[in-house]
Amino acid sequence: MKYAILGDIHSNYEALTAVLEDAQAQGIDKYCCVGDIVGYNANPAECMALIRDLNAVTVRGNHDHYCSYNMNLKDFHPLAAEVVDWTRRVLNEEQRQYLHDLPLYKSENLFTIVHSTLDNPSSWGYVFDRLEAESNFAYQTTQICFYGHTHVPMCFEKRLMVTLLRYEKFRVEPGCRYFINVGSVGQPRDGDPRAAYVVYDADFKTVELRRVEYDIAAAQDKIRRCKLPERLALRLAMGK
Ligand code: ZN
Repeated sequence: MKYAILGDIHSNYEALTAVLEDAQAQGIDKYCCVGDIVGYNANPAECMALIRDLNAVTVRGNHDHYCSYNMNLKDFHPLAAEVVDWTRRVLNEEQRQYLHDLPLYKSENLFTIVHSTLDNPSSWGYVFDRLEAESNFAYQTTQICFYGHTHVPMCFEKRLMVTLLRYEKFRVEPGCRYFINVGSVGQPRDGDPRAAYVVYDADFKTVELRRVEYDIAAAQDKIRRCKLPERLALRLAMGK
């Protein structure tokens, strides 16, 4: 069984279609999404439709959450708030309800997916270091948990201690647990502008981070045509 784990798509249709094409070539059996289908880019409805068509197991990200109903955005970064507001207006009632009804975390038999962290998924904490990962492991009952939110791919491995690994491809070891950030499809922030996602091969127990080129100029062009903040277009090319 081969899984594609993807997340932080953020309404980037060009990146998502490129990733799905790559995933199809990998012979993926099942798709999982760690959240944030919407936000930042110009195609929220189109990206949501693709994810729903795939029957992907999906959890709710903070952008999905805030775009799904009209709560106050005062705690949001102004740049993000502007896009959340725009996204709410372009989605219809049924689409907002879909986002609203997504669970905060979900366990398959072999792994769990969550947008931020299992210790308090609705507070949307960012996991960048070992201490933050340690709090997650206290709640992680499966060997692997995939997450997103930071848009920076990294892996925490827990034996007795937690170690942080940068990874491209590795084998899951018995007796270890893993908390793995799958990077971002639609707005990578690790300095590599290519779309990121993970292939988890449950038979060979391998986790592989894949990077996929996509038409960045087309995604930027849509951001400008929708009059979303210019900075959102610029950062796509920088991967930041
Ligand atoms: Zn995100």
